[in-house]
Amino acid sequence: MCKTCKFHSVRFTPQKPSLFGETLESLKDQIEAAGHKGFRAKQVMEWLYKKRVDSWDAMTNLPKDFRAWLEENFILYPTTPVIDKRSDDVTQKLLLELEDKSLIETVLIRAPQKGVGQEDSRKTVCVSIQVGCAFGCKFCASGLAGFRRNLMAAEVVSQLMHICRREDAHTDRAREEIASFDNIVFMGMGEPLSNYDTLVRTIRILNAEWGLNFGARRITVSTSGLAPQILKLAEEGIAVRLAISLHGATNEVRQQIMPINKKYPLEDLIPAAKAFQRKHGRMLTLEFILIEDVNDSLDQARELAKIARDLHAHVNCIPYNTVEGLQWKRPSLRRQDAFVDVLRKAKVSATIRREKGHDINAACGQLRLKTEKELADV
Ligand code: SAH
Ligand code: SF4
Repeated sequence: MCKTCKFHSVRFTPQKPSLFGETLESLKDQIEAAGHKGFRAKQVMEWLYKKRVDSWDAMTNLPKDFRAWLEENFILYPTTPVIDKRSDDVTQKLLLELEDKSLIETVLIRAPQKGVGQEDSRKTVCVSIQVGCAFGCKFCASGLAGFRRNLMAAEVVSQLMHICRREDAHTDRAREEIASFDNIVFMGMGEPLSNYDTLVRTIRILNAEWGLNFGARRITVSTSGLAPQILKLAEEGIAVRLAISLHGATNEVRQQIMPINKKYPLEDLIPAAKAFQRKHGRMLTLEFILIEDVNDSLDQARELAKIARDLHAHVNCIPYNTVEGLQWKRPSLRRQDAFVDVLRKAKVSATIRREKGHDINAACGQLRLKTEKELADV
């Protein structure tokens, strides 16, 4: 049972582990224990992360008996794409089915850059880390359907590799053996800090030279505010960016929409965030969804400005994205602007998401929910 959310996690044991969950060391140990040459581990990793193949047969420099051993003991991808939806020029959603038939989402967002072609835009991948979410924030599609289970590292890494392979076709980066996207955000389904070991293992695999060789500084972990795990992550020795889903600048307001605030109120969350910021020296991000008549008052903006200044944080205001079945509304544009004005006048660095395709946060969780509903209706 998870001590924070009090939910029982559903245990899932795959028939065979996926290679995408292995580290170089763990794979080498298993290879040697089976009587094969240890250096083969490095070759396998090259096929996975540099050449990005999706079949055993493509691993042409591996002896047949070793390939047979691999195939007998591992699977390649633990996730299968079921829907590949390019909703517009900016967002592409991938719905993936897991071995136990659960569905998860991965979203690719392109941020067009001035003066360059669309395929050269900055690309961010938004990954999921749990099936559903146990934290039950009142505005969130992922929380709406409850929690099913934690993902394993292989299931997270493979989301990124699916996207990487898809994008390889449009860029030169595969030839250069570097990832074909620029940023990774843990802002999909689930709470990263409540699947802590998977989060850390995944980041280490992405980071490693033998892995995707992807810098931690280009990875953002978004959390609803699990104070003790924020402190733990600060000491982990991985320099990821941290985004805190604040959504309420006082306990009273935050508690109405985020049950986690009862367990870790602002008195606990803010010092933990400050400790993280001090340790890594990078600006934090505070995410603040604007919901009409819930947290969009100018008083909230003033309180938020105080917190942001204290934490040396950037504020990202996100107009609430409608979720089917929930009653909340997005404030008018005038009200959104007035809110952001208060922040800027208080010398807080603040942005507001306006473009439809940039609503990645809300995008995550919704496709899965919709598909599951449709499947249930059949
Ligand atoms: N569990 C983590 C990460 C996943 S949620 C967290 O809560 O931070 C990623 C972001 O999407 C969070 O900031 C979350 O509050 C936001 N989000 C969820 N539902 C939303 C909605 N309907 N509209 C806008 N943003 C939403
Ligand atoms: Fe879970 Fe984050 Fe959604 Fe809250 S906002 S229910 S923590 S995924």
